[in-house]
Amino acid sequence: MAVPSPAPAPAPAADAAPCPCDLGAAGRRYADCCGRYHGSGCGQAPDAASLMRSRYSAFVLGRREELLATWHPDTRPPALEADPPGLRWLGLSVKAARRTGPDAAEVEFIARSKLGGRAHRLHERSRFLRVDGRWLYLDGVDPASGQPAGAA
Ligand SMILES: [Zn+2]
Repeated sequence: MAVPSPAPAPAPAADAAPCPCDLGAAGRRYADCCGRYHGSGCGQAPDAASLMRSRYSAFVLGRREELLATWHPDTRPPALEADPPGLRWLGLSVKAARRTGPDAAEVEFIARSKLGGRAHRLHERSRFLRVDGRWLYLDGVDPASGQPAGAA
């Protein structure tokens, strides 16, 4: 019996390719955008919106280590489930970002994806906290319902 292989290794991001985030759609290269906060730059995002974008790009690129490393320890899952086979991320739109305290911020965004021919739209207002100088993702709600994001 063949053992199911683990999730495929992260696809190598071409530094010169457009970044997966919304700034990439505006022409920014991965190396000059979210790539700066991946790998050795992980945790260096200067503000919550930059971290939000780099986390979206980490989802697109399958960079699980960055996702876990930028998750607040109070809410971080022990491990990340693999994306469903065939899931395609289509784009990110950051709608609003605001500081809610010296070390707290909120970012509202829409992330679009497609799975099995069905389009999906995730609208979330995420909360971020800065701990020891590093912005971390805390949690998110659906701005319309106030319910935890992804629950609908
Ligand atoms: Zn980016």
